[in-house]
Amino acid sequence: MDSLSRLRARMSQDGIEAIMVSDPVNVGWLTGFTGTFGRAIVTGNAAVFVTDSRYTIQAGEEISNMPVVSFASPVDGDEFVAKKAQELGVKSLGFEAASTTYLTWEKSIPKFSGVQLIPINDILSDIRMVKSDDEITKIRAACGIADAAFEHITRMIQPGVTEMDVCLDLEFFMRRQGAEVAFPSIVVSGNRSARPHGKPSEKKLEVGDFVTMDFGARVDGYNSDMTRTVVVGAATDRHHEVYNAVLEAQLGALGAIRAGALAKDVDTLAREILGKYDLAKYFGHGLGHGLGRVVHDGGRLSPSSPNVIEVGQIWTIEPGVYIEGFGGVRIEDDVLITETGIEILTHSPKEMMILPKA
Ligand code: ZN
Ligand code: ZN
Repeated sequence: MDSLSRLRARMSQDGIEAIMVSDPVNVGWLTGFTGTFGRAIVTGNAAVFVTDSRYTIQAGEEISNMPVVSFASPVDGDEFVAKKAQELGVKSLGFEAASTTYLTWEKSIPKFSGVQLIPINDILSDIRMVKSDDEITKIRAACGIADAAFEHITRMIQPGVTEMDVCLDLEFFMRRQGAEVAFPSIVVSGNRSARPHGKPSEKKLEVGDFVTMDFGARVDGYNSDMTRTVVVGAATDRHHEVYNAVLEAQLGALGAIRAGALAKDVDTLAREILGKYDLAKYFGHGLGHGLGRVVHDGGRLSPSSPNVIEVGQIWTIEPGVYIEGFGGVRIEDDVLITETGIEILTHSPKEMMILPKA
């Protein structure tokens, strides 16, 4: 089913007469439009895309599933959108509460006379969790570039190289492959690797450092998100112990995630495995998240998650252990839920690597 039909199916299920899609991520998913301003008004049997004169030509080229209309100064955008909704016979119009600011709400309401605006949950983010074949192809490509970037960077890791050097080289590599950088890469080493979301610094890599690298590529608007942790020079027993516990938790979660599983159960399993080594107390974040047009897309693997795993979803699995004064380890892969189990989309090696290779 195409995205417009999927949205309509959900609207009829939820009893929504009409919806105005305005969040750029959702607009892009629904219509293919890549500009910054667009409103798609969708009813059970009609739809229209409204943009302003900056995007008239672009929207005409990018959008094929609904007619495009545009306005130019001095016409007021909200009044124009309201008029288009009225032309479609809309009485009550759902708007995306999650991405509409209070100010926008306050300013827009008076201009929608004749149409009742109703806040609705982010149902598009929900629908987007299940990917089409085309979306999967793009995420697979983004994962391939992240794998190639990791392979590339392993040849550079050695004492004296800074975290920032590693970060820049990773990002340059991905961009050189034609991808965008999915998010500012995390490269943290030694004690600094105990910061799950630390920024790369001018700190030089030293023998005995864990180096955690969390990065991703974006291809045609779709992201990958991968983490690997390596050791510089030489590893102690403690390095092996912590690393192997995180790896066991990651493999355990990969073995448990499948269609029908509860997201919170997968998270719990990973925590239990770390608990065997008395390391669960150092695992403060969720086990993973949905991945797609947004890096932290809809869905969470966490102790309180309401999500049920479904075929066609893509999840990250990323347990971590962060010990202040020692360092941290995180291992993250991206997985597609299939009819028969899972397909792991990131393929970089996971056994503990000591670099540079002897
Ligand atoms: Zn990540
Ligand atoms: Zn992630």
